[in-house]
Amino acid sequence: MQVFNTVSALNSFLEENKVVGFRLGLVPTMGALHEGHLALIRQSVEENELTVCSIFVNPIQFNNAEDLEKYPRVMDADIALLKTFPGLVVFAPSSPEMYPQKPLIHFDFGALGQVMEGKFRTGHFNGVAIVVSKLFHMVQPNRAYFGQKDLQQCMVIRRLIEDLSFPIELKICDTIREPDGLALSSRNRRLNPSERQAAPAIYQALSLARDHILSDPQNRAAFFEESEAILKKANFQVEYFQLVDLHSLEEVQVPEAKQTLALCIAGYLGSVRLLDNLIFSLADKKNV
Ligand code: AMP
Repeated sequence: MQVFNTVSALNSFLEENKVVGFRLGLVPTMGALHEGHLALIRQSVEENELTVCSIFVNPIQFNNAEDLEKYPRVMDADIALLKTFPGLVVFAPSSPEMYPQKPLIHFDFGALGQVMEGKFRTGHFNGVAIVVSKLFHMVQPNRAYFGQKDLQQCMVIRRLIEDLSFPIELKICDTIREPDGLALSSRNRRLNPSERQAAPAIYQALSLARDHILSDPQNRAAFFEESEAILKKANFQVEYFQLVDLHSLEEVQVPEAKQTLALCIAGYLGSVRLLDNLIFSLADKKNV
């Protein structure tokens, strides 16, 4: 498998390999790859003749210097994991390659970018939109793959593609979880054993809240009560735990039958920030 560190080397390779009808998939990542990333890559490899997996820890999307510094960087292990995929190349640019100068442009996604992650991580989506736009221009994929795990990011990127007319199909892939429900995340590596043991509380809390909403959607007072107790017991410091409309991300007080809903949560276990979500609608009621 080939690894490219510069845009020009990647582009020469893509030019040489382009044939009529050729489809190119892009899977942007920050490395420290796990099964969640691999599921995206697998889907892209299945659906496209060629896939580019980018690995770049994007400094401008971090609003916390310690989080950026401690973000796991394991390039050799990542490349070893990717070796077996046919039709896959890696694009692993340096910071100066991605940012020869500090970008002046600024993205504002309105309410979509101001709630939840946008509220607690100032400037995060501006940094995401800049790096994703750059990757779209550099790689020029037909399809781009993102995980539902970062739901708000998916919604922001959908608007980025629509508003700037990128000729790219957005593919949103399901969240991959550990058997105990914990969503896979590169940050899980930083959990100590007791935090790791407590971490499934996040998924339990989401599932319980969803079940309460489905069984009695008018009783808002009861939606989060049991879940909050579970999170407290696990020592999870909640930043937000909200029921929102999937498309607008506006908070929902009384869910409606025709709405697609998302329960979104983020917070800290010790010093590690984790986030997760569940998507559902009242029509799922029969499953409870
Ligand atoms: P990251 O390296 O954290 O920037 O993630 C790269 C891509 O992988 C993003 O589109 C994430 O949403 C996606 N991703 C991260 N964790 C998971 C997971 N557990 N299941 C599915 N996709 C994921």
